[in-house]
Parts: sequence; C-alpha cells; structure tokens
Amino acid sequence: MTVAPIRTGTVPYIAPWSGEAASAASVTGTAAGGVAFVFESPQDRDSFGVLWNSRGDARGEGEPEYANVHPQRQREVMQELLCQVCGGRADQDDRGALWLLEDNRADWHGWPNDLLTTHPPVCLPCAGQAARGCPHLRRGSVAVRVGSSEVCAVYGRRYALVGRRLIRGDYDVVSYTSPNVRWVVAGQLVRSLADCTIVDLQAELGGRT
Ligand SMILES: [Zn+2]
Repeated sequence: MTVAPIRTGTVPYIAPWSGEAASAASVTGTAAGGVAFVFESPQDRDSFGVLWNSRGDARGEGEPEYANVHPQRQREVMQELLCQVCGGRADQDDRGALWLLEDNRADWHGWPNDLLTTHPPVCLPCAGQAARGCPHLRRGSVAVRVGSSEVCAVYGRRYALVGRRLIRGDYDVVSYTSPNVRWVVAGQLVRSLADCTIVDLQAELGGRT
C-alpha cells in the first residue's frame, strides 16, 4: 500500500483514518477478574497487562477522523514523547518537552503540575504551524515546558460484572496502580506532568529561527 505524504501532511499523526477499521473484538469478563477479548492475541495488551482497543494501520487511507484518536499511534507518541502532529521527536530543551495545553491556569495554583493528560507533546515547527493556523488555539492554549512526566494511567471504557453480566460503563482515566485497570479497554495513554514551566510560544519559536 502506498501512503501519499501530501495527504497525511496536514492531518495529525494521532488522527485515525476511515480506512483504518475499528476493532470488532468482543469483550468478555474473566474468571480471574477483568476484561479480555474473546479472541485475544498478546499484542492486545500493553507491558502492564492492560487490554487495548485497536484499529487498522493504514494511515492516509480514506478520510481523516479529526475528532477521534488512533489508539496505537497515540500510545506510541505518548510513550516515546513524539509530536502528536507529525510523529517526529517532540521539542526538548533544558526545561523539558514542549506541550501545548488548553489554558486552565485558573484550575489550581501551580497548574499544570500534577495534570493528567492524554494530549501528547509537540515539536516546534508543528507548534508554530498550529498557532498560526488556528486563532482559537492561540487564544485558548498555553505553551508549557514539562521537565518530567510519567506514564501513569490509561483513558478508556470501563466495564463491570453485575451478576454474570458484563456491563459497559463510561470512559474514564484509570491509574495503572488501580485494580480497576483490569476492567478497562484502553484507548489512550495518560501522562502526569511535573516540573512545568509556562513559556511564551512566540519566544520559543523565535529562539529557533
Ligand atoms: Zn511535529
């Protein structure tokens, strides 16, 4: 299969495409406590043993689904600290990796330290492009250098056994240290942010040109 770079160039790396079939795997409860796929393979679980939703791998096929996130690509970029837009290395300097976050500074003193986020970091060229191309982003977001961050949780659909019936619950962030994580089909990886410095994006961009 040939994937034309010109088609994927403006579509975020973590966006799924309509040609990437969503998994139709049936979910079941296990005797040991937790969820499993009826026909499960080892790659359906991450290194913590958590079950993951999956989609086909055919980036550029069909139409992009901007409102959705490709589980495996989001997990890859979040795990490796790659740019969510282009899939290259996220920008790093001595203050840490560059993140563009929705500006919620009013939420708590010291925000975004201790923030749990599913949004991966970005590289400098993509941050600049996003800021130029999207006035809303420029107004509503803040650039942050994150000195340390940790993969700590997944975002996914929770399940529960009621009697012998498996009930589909809501989407939630569930920590890897919680026993409830065995009852989740994960869709996105979550990092907790620490050692954060809010920076001026224009200054960051100016520093590299
Ligand atoms: Zn990028």
